[in-house]
Amino acid sequence: MSKSEKGHFKLIRGGTLIDGTGSGPKENAGILIEGPTIKAVDKSTDVPPETKIIDATGMTVMPGLIDSHVHFRGTIKGGLLERLINPRELGLIQSISDAKTLLASGYTTAKCCGGSNALFLKQAVAEGILPGMPRIIAAGYWLSQTFGHADAPYLPLEYVDVRTSRHSSNVTNSLICDGVDECIKAARYALRAGSDFIKISTTGGFSSIGDRPTDIQYNLDEIKAIVQTAEQVGKYVTAHCEMSLKAMKQSIIGGVKTVDHALLTDDECVGLAMEKDVIFVSTTIVFRNAIEAGRDVGKKLMESYKRIHKAGATLATGTDTGLGAQTFGTNALELELLVKYCDFSPMDAIVAATRNGAKACFMGDKTGTIEPGKYADIIIVNGNPLEDIAVLQNTDKIATVILEGKLEKQSLTN
Ligand SMILES: [Zn+2]
Repeated sequence: MSKSEKGHFKLIRGGTLIDGTGSGPKENAGILIEGPTIKAVDKSTDVPPETKIIDATGMTVMPGLIDSHVHFRGTIKGGLLERLINPRELGLIQSISDAKTLLASGYTTAKCCGGSNALFLKQAVAEGILPGMPRIIAAGYWLSQTFGHADAPYLPLEYVDVRTSRHSSNVTNSLICDGVDECIKAARYALRAGSDFIKISTTGGFSSIGDRPTDIQYNLDEIKAIVQTAEQVGKYVTAHCEMSLKAMKQSIIGGVKTVDHALLTDDECVGLAMEKDVIFVSTTIVFRNAIEAGRDVGKKLMESYKRIHKAGATLATGTDTGLGAQTFGTNALELELLVKYCDFSPMDAIVAATRNGAKACFMGDKTGTIEPGKYADIIIVNGNPLEDIAVLQNTDKIATVILEGKLEKQSLTN
């Protein structure tokens, strides 16, 4: 009988539990894990024989963190030149290393918002040849209009011209599509390649040369066509949307399920999002320097995330790690910045990076909180993130990482 097999049951006991729902910490909680799932919380009296005991005394037990916006591009420092010079194969190998670093730092789930590497990583994990990887939710090829955020009008024509609604280039990994028919074609092509969700850009961006973060990209009928194509096969759409209220409203009305970056909002946008269960994804890390230098975009970001939070709308944490200067392993800096600049309490930031992250990955019923029936995606932290949220950025303090009940990391301290 598999249920009595040694190691099938695990009990975490002695620690302070932060369950990810937002309710207060619980001392000496017991978490019983059976196979990949959580069987019981706080009912440590009835422990099956041969249960593996994990002692968390003096430590914090919490859900595995979720980064709702990364890119497994495989570039060490990011940057256009490196992407052009690096062979694609090297990028894929770097991505393996990045993903392993991410898991060791306490992130059990990562949503990759564009880049084909994630599709291959997922497949290798499924085949059992890549241990030590987080769960990856992958967009794969992302969709952009001509002269859009994931176009690259500054590159030589041969890099740009080859891309169509069904053919991506090595450099950008994007499919260029304009008009309803091409948008449907591109969405289906991305789905055929294995996308878990469709990523589109509905504004330009600070990181893209040639367009502006205020540019409105895609028309409402194009967005609706992509959303419908995704929903017909049980998938959803995530939108890159930086600094246009009109683009944000169009995205939400068009049916996208997460609005990422969201540097500019108003009460109407936030109200619409709440009405339609749309989730905002923060990327404060990217704009940290702008905040600290007092630049306009930094001010707008703080205002926007404060407005979202105050209204009670759902915000999940992203980082855009893999595109810019941010390197994998310190993704939890995003939580500290939400606390420092955007009126989040440490508990609010933890909920954003756990329960809300699971929602942004459309896995809210499966992970993100420590509750019976959910996957045992759990970390044990040598410290108290409610007193010092920055402790989550120190990989050495992430003593234990459990993914779907499997012990992926366990330091000698417990
Ligand atoms: Zn991104």
